[in-house]
This record gives sequence, structure tokens and C-alpha cells, in this order.
Amino acid sequence: MNYAEAIEHIKARLLECVLEKDITDDKEEQERLVNEFDYLSLSYDALDKFEPKEAIPYEVDVEKVKIGNGFWGVGTTIYKCPNCGDYVSKIYKYCKECGQALKYEK
Ligand SMILES: [Zn+2]
Repeated sequence: MNYAEAIEHIKARLLECVLEKDITDDKEEQERLVNEFDYLSLSYDALDKFEPKEAIPYEVDVEKVKIGNGFWGVGTTIYKCPNCGDYVSKIYKYCKECGQALKYEK
């Protein structure tokens, strides 16, 4: 099972939790399903960040942008994290703000 398959499995189980909670009258079972939903949601968020997402090219249009210890000036191309929107440069495999795995256009 790879990350994408695990994510699909978790998404399917999240939906089942919602549907099962709606059709049961057992309060303990409803509570168990709510807890399971919460655990799975956390797992989903964490796993989703391991699957690299395409960083969004951004041409700097302000005087300068600071990323780590570097500065990028007007007209240079940097990137934005597709998850949180923070600035990143190509040297980063992960967003330093939110931890999203990143890939870059060739
Ligand atoms: Zn981010």
C-alpha cells in the first residue's frame, strides 16, 4: 500500500463512519464512531502531507521576499506552498511552515 492508496482507504472509512453513525441508535457505538472519525481525520491530514504536491510558481512583484536566510527580488521566480501559501524555494523538499511535501515543475 502506498500513501495514495492509504489516503483513499482512510477517505472511504471516514465516509463509512458518518453513514454508520447516522443509522445506529446505540449511543456507545455513535461515540466510538465519532472518536474513530477524529483519529482517521488526523491520520488523513498527516498522510496527505507526505504525498508531494506541485509548488505554485510565483514571480516576485515586491521589493524582496525572505525565505530562510535568502532574499528574492522583483522579477525572480519563487514558489508558494499549495497547502498553506507560504513562500518556498526549490531547495525545500518540504514546506517549512506546514510540512507539506513539495515537488516543482521542471
Ligand atoms: Zn505550507
